[in-house]
Amino acid sequence: MFPESVILGDASKQNYAIYPRRYYVDVLRECRTCRRPFIFFAREQRYWFETLHFFVDADCVLCPSCRRDSQVIRRRLRRYSDLRRESQLTDAQLQSLVDDATYLFIHGALRDVNSLGQLKNRAVKVIPEYVGTTRLREVLANAKAATRAA
Ligand SMILES: [Zn+2]
Repeated sequence: MFPESVILGDASKQNYAIYPRRYYVDVLRECRTCRRPFIFFAREQRYWFETLHFFVDADCVLCPSCRRDSQVIRRRLRRYSDLRRESQLTDAQLQSLVDDATYLFIHGALRDVNSLGQLKNRAVKVIPEYVGTTRLREVLANAKAATRAA
């Protein structure tokens, strides 16, 4: 805690059950994902609880960079799932699907290697020249090698 950073809370703007936040103060946190320390700033907290109206007991567990990553992951996962349901894809859509799959696999958001292998085979057939196809092949090959080594 950094007491000199204190700013007063306005309970009338907060969403709370029993105790509102009477004040905000910069606090040191450790990111749940990358374990790096970061500061959850008093001004940021006021924005969360008085402008966005998050429940006052909500805590910030991700550093700013991991928060951005997790938003990108959610967005790409949604697009990936939508395209995965389509039976016909244009080459551009297949490229986007391949890129999303690679990104999501690297970030641990997709783990089904068989399903990714099928996508890779399809990409090799339909868009063999695409740089993303090569990247997906490499990522899957590395993952297999890592599994064998373990
Ligand atoms: Zn982080």
